[in-house]
Amino acid sequence: MSGVWVWIEQFEGQMKAISQEMLGAGHTAAEGLSQPLTAVVLGHNVGALAQEAFDLGADQVLGADDPTLDQFRVEAYGPVLAGMARERSPQALIFGASTRGRDLAAWVAAELDAGLVADGIGLSVENGTLKVTRPVYTGKLQAEVFVTDGPQLVSLRGRAFAPAESTGGSGDAQWVPAAIGDVSTEIVNFESSAGTVSLNDATIIVSGGRGVGGPDGFAPVQELADVLSGAMGASRAAVDAGWIPYEYQVGQTGKTVSPDLYIACGISGAIQHQAGMRTSKVIVAINKDPDAPIFKLASYGIVGDLFKVLPALTAEFGKRLGS
Ligand code: FAD
Repeated sequence: MSGVWVWIEQFEGQMKAISQEMLGAGHTAAEGLSQPLTAVVLGHNVGALAQEAFDLGADQVLGADDPTLDQFRVEAYGPVLAGMARERSPQALIFGASTRGRDLAAWVAAELDAGLVADGIGLSVENGTLKVTRPVYTGKLQAEVFVTDGPQLVSLRGRAFAPAESTGGSGDAQWVPAAIGDVSTEIVNFESSAGTVSLNDATIIVSGGRGVGGPDGFAPVQELADVLSGAMGASRAAVDAGWIPYEYQVGQTGKTVSPDLYIACGISGAIQHQAGMRTSKVIVAINKDPDAPIFKLASYGIVGDLFKVLPALTAEFGKRLGS
């Protein structure tokens, strides 16, 4: 077994930011193992993506370009990637722990009957083996996990690794035929929520909880998010109450985020909410209860009514940022 592979996630031919970070992590692994770094590109008309991977420092690019791979479907991507790995036996396969990356990593691990360390936030090499740091007990502890046998599959969180930088490199990708059987799913279309910033990619997130009091209470939360060019999130209590759709939920059973700035408004800071946001670089809590658990985690706390604090912050940031 030899080689470190990084799966390049793309949407409509554009590399996702998380894959640039995975190439950064892949460099660390490849250097530590003294093995080449291979970017694996799957899709349709993705030649430019292969060159982008070379530019980001991949030593080799292995790809499959086929109309069946145009849109991500795990039933199509899984067998192709597993087949490539079976033939070439890489030592390590790295996936971004995005929704698609988690899905694909699990599928490939099952097909290869290999171990998978999911949701890592740190990666290093010890005695020729990858060591992955991952949060356990809803983020209260961190465990160091090794895959000791077979290909080492890992999925790593977004915004936890520095992205690979442009090297000016180029090369010839190796394209293999995509032998895909029947695929039981079909992507009919995508509907984008115009004007909103993706929670996964956001560097600033403003979240509202039960303290916003109802659907209308999210208006001042959204206004602050807008003025900061950030995304809006929510606690599960607000989602369960039907005030905001599930895709906004941050936490153990929602999205895991790690922005530069997370502003929690009217959120008590239950452990399950913390599990999704505790790795944020700076956390600001706005809560009228000075004993709310979120203040123990927060870098800065504002004790007060969010309906007074948020408009004041929005006005001040608006003035200073000219937005
Ligand atoms: P509350 O705990 O009710 O807190 C509301 C806060 O708002 C209070 O601190 C209050 O002081 C403050 N407040 C009220 N009015 C104002 C005001 N005007 N101004 C300022 N502050 C105000 N939760 C998640 O968030 N994400 C998850 O993914 C998740 N997964 C879960 C999984 C499981 C298996 C379980 C059991 C629970 C999960 N939960 C999750 C639920 C979690 O335990 C909490 O119930 C939930 O996070 C509470 O949401 P909250 O903080 O908005 O509400």
